[in-house]
Amino acid sequence: MQAVVIHEVGAFELEDLPVPEPGPGEALIRVSVTGLCRTDLKIVRHGHRDLTLPRVPGEEVVGEVVALGPAGPRPAPPLGRADRAASDERPFAPGDRVYVYPGVWCGECPSCRRCAENLCRQMRIMGFHRDGGFAEYVAAPLQSLIRVPERLGDEEAVFAEPLSCCLNALELGRVGEGDVLGVWGAGPAGTLLSRAGALRGADVVVVEPHAGRRERLRTAPGTRAGVAVHPEPTGPVDVAVVAVGDPRAYEAAIAALAPRGRLVVFSGLLPADDAALRVSLSAVHYREHTFVGAYGCSFRHGTAALELLGSGRLRVDDLISHRLPLAALDEGLDLVARRAGMKVHLYPGAVPRSHSPRPSRPRSPR
Ligand SMILES: [Zn+2]
Repeated sequence: MQAVVIHEVGAFELEDLPVPEPGPGEALIRVSVTGLCRTDLKIVRHGHRDLTLPRVPGEEVVGEVVALGPAGPRPAPPLGRADRAASDERPFAPGDRVYVYPGVWCGECPSCRRCAENLCRQMRIMGFHRDGGFAEYVAAPLQSLIRVPERLGDEEAVFAEPLSCCLNALELGRVGEGDVLGVWGAGPAGTLLSRAGALRGADVVVVEPHAGRRERLRTAPGTRAGVAVHPEPTGPVDVAVVAVGDPRAYEAAIAALAPRGRLVVFSGLLPADDAALRVSLSAVHYREHTFVGAYGCSFRHGTAALELLGSGRLRVDDLISHRLPLAALDEGLDLVARRAGMKVHLYPGAVPRSHSPRPSRPRSPR
């Protein structure tokens, strides 16, 4: 099978690898679509704290189960697993369309017991510690699979991964009804945060200095009423989520916090950036600010994201700007690096033909 392999940070090869054998408790999945994000850019070109080599990257995966490995030990479920719909308890079988939650967790450590398996002591992430979806096939544990709702296409379903991370960030920022939510950055993550934040009842201001990106977000068919886009914050914000890896955006977000405001440290910074900022502890003290980190997502966020996408309440099809074959990964990474597109999807099999831009539909008032 064709796969992208990183042997050393900064470069990758397109190689012919044997199709992986699913181990005990695993499924073999034919990858239908895999999403590209800034984390992949970081992994391939700059390295990542959690990356081990050699590695097939790719942590946003939707595909079809084609084979099952031998029965494995039943892993201890984390508490969040209880959220899993009863229909999901029927065993997976070849032909099932699945989204792969990228993590494998232990189920027993303190983080797992708090439903924060993304912080599991033994977390193994697909595309970081084990091979991921920039390949025609991937082997993944059954415990990580979530069924794709029937009415949801693969292309939309693969947004479950970035959307899950956004749901985790909004949850940690305690974004609720009537809050002013400031989102820094109008890229794919910023857009998903704005849409999911508006669904939680927040008034959303997306802060984006680039005029072209502001216009793109304003005119996107899925942009909701209640989401404003400005070059700078228009007033104090109750919650600030930074979705651009730029220390200056963090400075601006902290400056915009209202009393009792919460900053969500969502976007990672490149190793070359100085990730240390001077913060006035007096301001934190007198204004009762909260800073909270958000890294990845838990399994239950994957379930919630797929439900949200399947319900049609959060539209994502208008965010796909490029559909590329696996061999065009470098081009895709350039697009991500230059922020030239929105969401870039890779297709390890055939790139679907139906991707001439969809005919424009009247803007939905939803
Ligand atoms: Zn754990």
